[in-house]
Amino acid sequence: MKLSQYFVKTSKNVPADETARNAQLLIQAGFIHKEMAGVYAYLPLGLRVIDNIKQIVREEMNAIGGQEVQMTTLQPKDIWEKTDRWDDKKVDNWFKTKLTNGTELGVGLTHEEPIVDAISSYISSYKDLPFSVYQIQSKFRNELRAKSGLLRGREFIMKDMYSLARNQEEHEKLYEQVAEAYHAVYKRLGLGDSTYRTYADGGIFTERFSDEFQTLSDIGEDTIYLDEAKGVAINKEVYTDENLAKLGLNKQDLVEKKAIEVGNIFPLETKYTDALDVYYTDEDGQKQSIIMGCYGIGVSRLMGVIAEHFADDKGLVWPDNVAPAKVYLVRIGASDEVVKQADALYEHLTSNGIDVLYDDRDMRPGEKFADADLLGIPYRIVVSDKTVAADTYELKARTADQAEQISFAEVSKTLGIVA
Ligand code: ATP
Ligand code: MG
Repeated sequence: MKLSQYFVKTSKNVPADETARNAQLLIQAGFIHKEMAGVYAYLPLGLRVIDNIKQIVREEMNAIGGQEVQMTTLQPKDIWEKTDRWDDKKVDNWFKTKLTNGTELGVGLTHEEPIVDAISSYISSYKDLPFSVYQIQSKFRNELRAKSGLLRGREFIMKDMYSLARNQEEHEKLYEQVAEAYHAVYKRLGLGDSTYRTYADGGIFTERFSDEFQTLSDIGEDTIYLDEAKGVAINKEVYTDENLAKLGLNKQDLVEKKAIEVGNIFPLETKYTDALDVYYTDEDGQKQSIIMGCYGIGVSRLMGVIAEHFADDKGLVWPDNVAPAKVYLVRIGASDEVVKQADALYEHLTSNGIDVLYDDRDMRPGEKFADADLLGIPYRIVVSDKTVAADTYELKARTADQAEQISFAEVSKTLGIVA
């Protein structure tokens, strides 16, 4: 992408109406656009980040046999009444709307009911199970407070998966597979060392715990107690002597931390399948309940978490796997030689499959360097009269203190281009 053609401009000013660092940085750097509190549009660079996160999530869900679908946002009221989740007193953050004839509709905030309703047409015998389906799409929740940028949206992107199993043993196998896949996702996103599986409230209809995935952060809304040696934590909500004993955790091994919930996996037992009257027939012809699990990942929240987690005083710092491009190419000056060499490098890199943001704008070097830092692209390469004369390129990793002057071959090598 050539920045001279990019319609978005960076801003030197911190947006006055944002207190969250992720929103401030992402708006200043031109990754997102604020429509209203808790509602953000993704601009081209932001969309690339979102797509990279989605792709990692998708690959890990596919690897454990998840089948991708896309459910609808508009929801019929009756299926939610069957599980007693339509009433605003039961679920307090619904957005609802009406057809012209007055029929009420819900605007999807989660999809247990619609998923069970949709798949009920395809399940009859034990041979039809088990399986897992997932989707990655926007959810809508009328959140009371939406001051944390992408961390708490009223419209936000979630991956939600649902597993359906014939018995408890089969369910637990799927459930543990998902937990492993979640660890793989956070690791690939660069958050592996700071994200912990955390025992949490299982909800009103189960004696079990649910498992949250919590990323340590001083701005986190959640308080967890972390057993670093075991690599697990327990949420303050369920932190009781009785539960510690149940989980084999010792008070003296636990450290209190603030954290952000980046995922949540839930044993649903047979609550939704029974309520929506979906059963299967076993080998002996007996009608049996279906055991369900649900598994969420906050895709857009993760973009905000990653933005805050890695940022420094100069701006964003994207891990390689989620960065919107690998190289920020700075052209300094407009002599024929400089233009020729910068253009040639751009061609060379892009034709080798490397995403490059080419800063070919007519701006002062200082402004270009400031933008390179603000945007947080992993590598910055400078082509100037000086580098052309020395027959070198200036390369600096976003997180390095010093730039180095290196040859064309070394540039290729650093970026993993095989000759
Ligand atoms: P929270 O406790 O933060 O309100 P939740 O428990 O209601 O979240 P789930 O329904 O389990 O969330 O949703 C799955 C995941 O979606 C969460 O783990 C979180 O990462 C993300 N998420 C939930 N609500 C929001 C929101 N308003 N904005 C952005 N991401 C969200
Ligand atoms: Mg939760």
